[in-house]
Amino acid sequence: MAKLFESVRYLKGVGKARAELFASMGITTLYDLISYFPRTYEDRSRIVPISELQVDEPACFRAFVTSNPRTHHIRKGLDLTKLTVADDTARLNLTFFNQTYVAENLEYSREYYFYGTLNGDYMGYQVTNPIFEPVEKPGVLTRRIMPIYPLTAGMSNGLMSRSVQQALEACLEELPELLPGELRARYGLCDAVTAYRNIHMPESFEALDRARHRLVFEEFFIFSVGLALLRSRRTQKVREPWKELDLTPFLEALPYKLTNAQKRAVAEIVGDLESGSVMNRLVQGDVGSGKTVVAAAAAWLAAKNGVQAAMMAPTEILAEQHARSLKQLMEPLGVRTALLTGSMTAAQKKAARQEIAEHRVDFIIGTHALIAEATDFSNLGLVIADEQHRFGVAQRSALAEKGQDPHILVMSATPIPRTLALILYGDLDISVIDELPPGRQSIDTFLVGEDKRARINAFIRKQVAEGHQCYIVCPSIEEGEDESLRSAEVWAETLQKAVFPDLRVALVHGKMKPAQKDETMRAFARGEYNILVATTVIEVGVDVPNATLMVIENADRFGLSQLHQLRGRVGRGDAKSYCILFSSNRNPETLQRLKALCKTNDGFEISREDLALRGPGDFFGTRQHGLPAFKVGNLAMDLENLKNAQAAAAEFMTSEELPKRPEYAPLMERIRALFREDS
Ligand code: ADP
Ligand code: MG
Repeated sequence: MAKLFESVRYLKGVGKARAELFASMGITTLYDLISYFPRTYEDRSRIVPISELQVDEPACFRAFVTSNPRTHHIRKGLDLTKLTVADDTARLNLTFFNQTYVAENLEYSREYYFYGTLNGDYMGYQVTNPIFEPVEKPGVLTRRIMPIYPLTAGMSNGLMSRSVQQALEACLEELPELLPGELRARYGLCDAVTAYRNIHMPESFEALDRARHRLVFEEFFIFSVGLALLRSRRTQKVREPWKELDLTPFLEALPYKLTNAQKRAVAEIVGDLESGSVMNRLVQGDVGSGKTVVAAAAAWLAAKNGVQAAMMAPTEILAEQHARSLKQLMEPLGVRTALLTGSMTAAQKKAARQEIAEHRVDFIIGTHALIAEATDFSNLGLVIADEQHRFGVAQRSALAEKGQDPHILVMSATPIPRTLALILYGDLDISVIDELPPGRQSIDTFLVGEDKRARINAFIRKQVAEGHQCYIVCPSIEEGEDESLRSAEVWAETLQKAVFPDLRVALVHGKMKPAQKDETMRAFARGEYNILVATTVIEVGVDVPNATLMVIENADRFGLSQLHQLRGRVGRGDAKSYCILFSSNRNPETLQRLKALCKTNDGFEISREDLALRGPGDFFGTRQHGLPAFKVGNLAMDLENLKNAQAAAAEFMTSEELPKRPEYAPLMERIRALFREDS
């Protein structure tokens, strides 16, 4: 094992500075390095006759140099070196910009492999700055499938691939095999050594496919076994069925009729409550789809059945908002509500906790204060976690532990495709609210560049003149290293001083004290500010129906689902609402992503798009669900493989004996490391 865990400094060409660069990419050992997989590949393996080269398509060709390289000094800082090459199909001009040294390396009448892109203009066709190697030398940069790695500033693809290659040579033999032969044989998977070699240096595209297939399976298998482990730590719990399940009075008290999707979710919840087992249900629905009232229906039933219900929200503002609207709805129905948050005074908290402990209240809405040690429930029968992606698994279960196996309902506004949800939240049953209440208008969304800045500022002014308010979201708090990123602090000041001196501009961000942050948000909600400049802290929280415009700076820096959440902050009142995405990014993939948001307001569709374009790692982010992100697997593309791995994992976990076999020891060790109890 010695080499595998050797520092990258072991490698030729890697000194202190480069080792630090690697470390900034999360790579410290040789094992880390060979586990850092290419993002894509270039096909330099196929040799194309010159006559068949296509414009704008990079390709590899083999040719003789048929003229001596000639360098022309065009002007200061611009030297052009030109020469001609030929194979037996055609002649071709090569041009090198500021690469005079090539003249010394390309010899008249010698034969080379080249890799480059044909381009044409009024002067004719040519290949500019091709990579080349003499035919006698082994192919390193040509004649092969070239891995392209995700890079960082200062790291080149050449350095990366050379280092990986060296690392593979040094430690491939020591690589632990996580999938024993028997399992590989059953699912047609190659061994670890072959997989690692071919994911980095594919012998062919078939070999690359096999390598990827194996690594994706491995990743999903580990994930599925890990989830099953988490699940088995909770034992299957039973519970006396609730008797009172008539919702008529509650439904009659509502100022509106439930949508069909809401009715379905409520019926599924009722089914759980009368089943005799503990409910473990996730309600997924887009922003504004009306999840709160579904939770309220369950809380009403809790009160009818003589037990308490608690709803935990991720922010004080959200908790207060829920408490206010739920009190209005529930108290006339005889359900006593209470609020418990950290920012209440000690005396207020004490009083609330007393009411809770003595069961003088039925429905308690709060923040993390609910799980504080001082909070005791008299008889907690239902736990609701709102915006569950903001809580870790641990916090959810801490609340559940305040009762005796209470029913659990979690609400999420980050919709994901059902097939996926079933797998990722394998321990939860799922209800989907895929319908918005009637009369909701879509938010018009526009993607713009800096050239539209003045027009957008005028638009902000117009919205404010009509009595509306505006959010402006920036990706960073302070001025940072990356100057292209808009900082909320600096931008708020600029807007206030230079652009809208006559308007009231407020600022909120995550580094402010919670009390100060909440006070600013409340003041904005009361209409005391026209413009709120913020970081993503406003993603969850304030409900300001008067806000009609959401402007997002450096929109390309956010995930699609996150942008969709942010956009959901407007369009909450009667007035037409808008979302403006600023981006100067010209990357076609990025633009496609952002345009998806302009095309639709449907959160499910957006998450599907997000998933397909970004890969699941970025999409979920370890932070959001407490589970490892996928490195090779793509949940949108590898669903079949995922299903297989899941089936294999299920079988593995139900066997008493398999996990104990020595050949599975490296696998079990890896899984335990990834799914530690505290995650
Ligand atoms: P979310 O799913 O984002 O939590 P909310 O529960 O906050 O959404 O609901 C958004 C708004 O829609 C609230 O003002 C709520 O009163 C309203 N609402 C919920 N259900 C309906 C319905 N069936 N008909 C009309 N309005 C509804
Ligand atoms: Mg909500």
